[in-house]
This record gives sequence, C-alpha cells and structure tokens, in this order.
Amino acid sequence: MTDQLPRLQHYIGGQYVAPADGAYFASGNPATLEPLYEAARGSAEDVGRAMRAAHEAFDSPGWSGLSATKRGHLLRRLGDLIGERADDLARYESLDNGKLLREMRGQLAALPEYYYYYAGLADKVQGSQIPTTSLAILNYTQREPLGVVGAITPWNSPLTLTTSKIAPALAAGNTVVVKPSEHTSRTILLLAELATEAGFPDGAFNVVTGFGSEAGAALVSHPLLAKISFTGSTATGARIAAEAASRFIGCTLELGGKSPNIVFEDADVANAAMGVIAGIYAAAGQTCIAGSRVFAHRAVYDELLERVTARANSIRVGDPLADDTELGPLAFADQLEKVDSYVRLGAEEGATVHTGGGRPDVSLPGYFYSPTVLTDVDNSMRVVREEIFGPVAAIMPFEHEDELIGLANDTEYGLAAGVWTQNLARAHRVARRLDAGTIWVNTYRAMSPMSPRQGFKSSGVGIEHGLESMNEYTRLKSIWINT
Ligand code: NAD
Repeated sequence: MTDQLPRLQHYIGGQYVAPADGAYFASGNPATLEPLYEAARGSAEDVGRAMRAAHEAFDSPGWSGLSATKRGHLLRRLGDLIGERADDLARYESLDNGKLLREMRGQLAALPEYYYYYAGLADKVQGSQIPTTSLAILNYTQREPLGVVGAITPWNSPLTLTTSKIAPALAAGNTVVVKPSEHTSRTILLLAELATEAGFPDGAFNVVTGFGSEAGAALVSHPLLAKISFTGSTATGARIAAEAASRFIGCTLELGGKSPNIVFEDADVANAAMGVIAGIYAAAGQTCIAGSRVFAHRAVYDELLERVTARANSIRVGDPLADDTELGPLAFADQLEKVDSYVRLGAEEGATVHTGGGRPDVSLPGYFYSPTVLTDVDNSMRVVREEIFGPVAAIMPFEHEDELIGLANDTEYGLAAGVWTQNLARAHRVARRLDAGTIWVNTYRAMSPMSPRQGFKSSGVGIEHGLESMNEYTRLKSIWINT
C-alpha cells in the first residue's frame, strides 16, 4: 500500500536528492489516519552531503559573499512566494499535524512578514568604533556570519518555528541545514524549493528529513556545524546543548513550558475566560506557550470555572479542514497516549476531571481528545508540574498576590505567563515579579517577529525574534589598528 504513496526526498544543494541508503518512512494524517506520503529517512551520510553543500554555499561568492542588501532582496522575494503558495502550505501543514486549516491560513497570512522583517535587517548588521584610551590606535568591531547553522524543529508549528531560525540566520549571511520533525516533513521541503525559486544560491538552504536520533544527532555532531538552533522538548534540548558544549558550539534553545494564566479578582472575568480557553485549547493545547496552569482568585474562581467549563463543553471538535471546527486532533498516536495517561495520572493523584477526559464524539477515526479541565489540583502533582502538551487545563484558586507569585513561579519552566486584571499598577508589578520571558496582560498568545522572546529557566537559552535575534547568528570581531 505504501508503495503508491508520494515519496519526498531531501533538499540539498538546490535540488531534491534521494537518501543515500534508499530508506524512507511513512507519514499519516492524524484526523483520518490515512497515509499521506513517505519521506526520506536521513542518515549521517545524507547530513554530510547537506553540510558540505551548505559549507560550499557559505564561501564567497556564495551566500555570505552576496551583498547584504541582495540577501535582503532574496528574503523578501521568498516572503512573496510564500504568500503566493499560502493555500498549499496551510493545507499541507494542517494535513500533517492536524492543526485547524483556519488557523493555518492565519499563520500563513503572517508568515511573509517574518521574511520582510529580516530582509530589512540584513543590511543593518553593524559594528562600532570603540574610543579606547590610545588615540594612535583605531579599534572597531564587526559582526560576521558564523557559517553553517543547523536548525532542528518540532511538529507543532513547523513553518513559523523554522522561519524564526532560518530567516535571521540567512539574513546575517549564514547558510542553513534544517532537520524538521519526522511528523511534519512536507512544508519545510516546499519552503526550501521556494527559496531556490526566489533565487537563493544552491546550498544556501538545505533540508534533511528523518528522525531525531539519526539525522538530528548526525547534524548536531557534524564537524562543519557552526551553531545549532533548536526548538523542541526540554529533554532533547538538554542532550543537544551537552553535545554542542563539548565542542564549544553556540546554541539557541526554545524549549518546553508550563505557563501560568492568572485571573485576579478585578479582571473582566468573561474576557479572562476566553483568554484561558485560547491559552490552553488552541492547537489542541500543543503549543509551548499553552496556559496549562490557571490560577483564579478565590473571589472569581467559581465564575471562571463555570465559564471555562461551559465553553470547553461547547467547542466543536472534528475535521481540521472544516471551517466551523474549533479543535482538531492531537498530532500522532503517542501524543494521544501521553495526554490520556496524564489525565489518568491526575485522577490517581487526587485531581477531579471536572470536564473532558477521553475521546469526544467525532465521526473521524483520528487522535481526538476532549477539552479537559482538572480541579482539586496543586503544585505537588505531576499534572501541574510537567508539560502535558494537550488540551488539559489545571485550574487552581489563590487568595493573595504574594501567595500567587510564589505558586506561579514554582516551576522549572519560565516561557510565558498571562495576567488578567484591570488594575494597571498590579499589571506592572506582577509582570515584573513573574519569572517568565514573555508576559501577556489581558491578552494571550500575541506574537510578532519584531518582539524578542526568550525562555527563562528550563524553557530556553538565547533569543528569538526582534533585533536581538540577529546577534544569535553572528560573531563579534574586535579589530585594533595601530595608525
Ligand atoms: P522533540 O524534542 O521530541 O523533537 C524536536 C526535534 O528534535 C524533532 O525534529 C526531533 O526529530 C529532534 N530530535 C529528537 N531527538 C534528537 C536528538 N537526540 N538529536 C537531535 N535532534 C533530535 O519535541 P517535539 O515533540 O517535536 O515538540 C514538542 C516540544 O517542543 C514541547 O516540549 C514544546 O513545548 C516544545 N516547543 C517549544 C517552543 C518554544 O518556542 N519554546 C515552540 C514549540 C514547541
């Protein structure tokens, strides 16, 4: 049966390339469970080919030898082509990971902006002149690209998360080798093809598909690698960081989260309830920024719980391609098993499954899971401490602001936090005291390529987006000239 499936090959040196050992693996649709395609199962040899192509393209007159303004033009052109192919890209990603097609169309409408933003930064990478004490010596700095940047990305938002790495890396003059998640190979291959169509030199943007323990590990340990930029789980990030550290290679890591979404007694509770819903049920809870720990002040706890429960029970779960669907499936079988086992664990730990838990009534056979609310939970439980990565909110009451800060910060993660209050002084105060890299007040999930973000604690290392992200993909040289 899999013989008839389309076969996706690696993208190396500006063209599709078959895997050296001829191995492929199957990828399926998580809503219908139908097979979609087979993708090349990348080996160390395939990674080596891609690294050599990227290394050659880095050398002048390749990518880094182009003028920075020309690199900006090409990135802008790639943004245009993404806009032209937005329907295909949105559909492929939805088929791959079960995200709502509606949501993917929104993401694709925003994606060209990332390329336009970094296109504008390409020729603004500058050094400075340093006023050292001796007037006879001129000291200045320059920022240089690093070489070949490896990008390893997850399945939950492949196009956007890969773009957050490759757009600044390419703008700064590096070439890239991407290893997308084994669950979502297709859209990143198309992205690389569009880069060639945009006029990128062959080898500037390469993709090796396959598994983390094979192609991913080979990429991280390749001697030509100058930098690794990773988004994924904290456990994998730790492994990659250890390997990179052993060779003194820099890494940017965007990792897991267990973000608090906090509702104070002076909040607009109806609004806050919608923010809590969006925070945890968007993309079926499969987002790093999921607001999975909800803290509600005792005075509004009952009202918030009632509103969230009512909305959770009315969410339309089903076909992610249908316009009126509000929640699609989880992305693959292990995800479903993991989420369900956490809900069962919560019940064993003493939590009440207030609503949800288990499979909703959906005609499709895929990996669907009901929007779930856990109550009678506290910070000692694993369901409150560990990232579930599914549509499961733990809702807890609090009484005082100081107590809340202690509870919210009592986590190994520090990715994001939401705060719902109409008291401006409290908003500033609480935002300052929360130990997380992004704080949203009276909103949740807002994001822009212009706004820097950083995971604190076990949620990451380094900065993505914004002006600061360009520094992640350059090195600083200090030059002294005796005049
Ligand atoms: P994962 O860590 O299992 O895999 C991520 C990528 O790493 C995949 O491409 C995988 O093939 C690769 N990989 C796995 N083992 C590897 C190894 N030993 N060497 C090299 N590469 C390896 O994560 P996932 O399940 O794909 O993604 C979900 C996780 O990503 C969640 O923890 C989520 O919070 C996190 N995430 C973080 C952000 C952020 O911006 N902070 C964004 C999205 C997702």
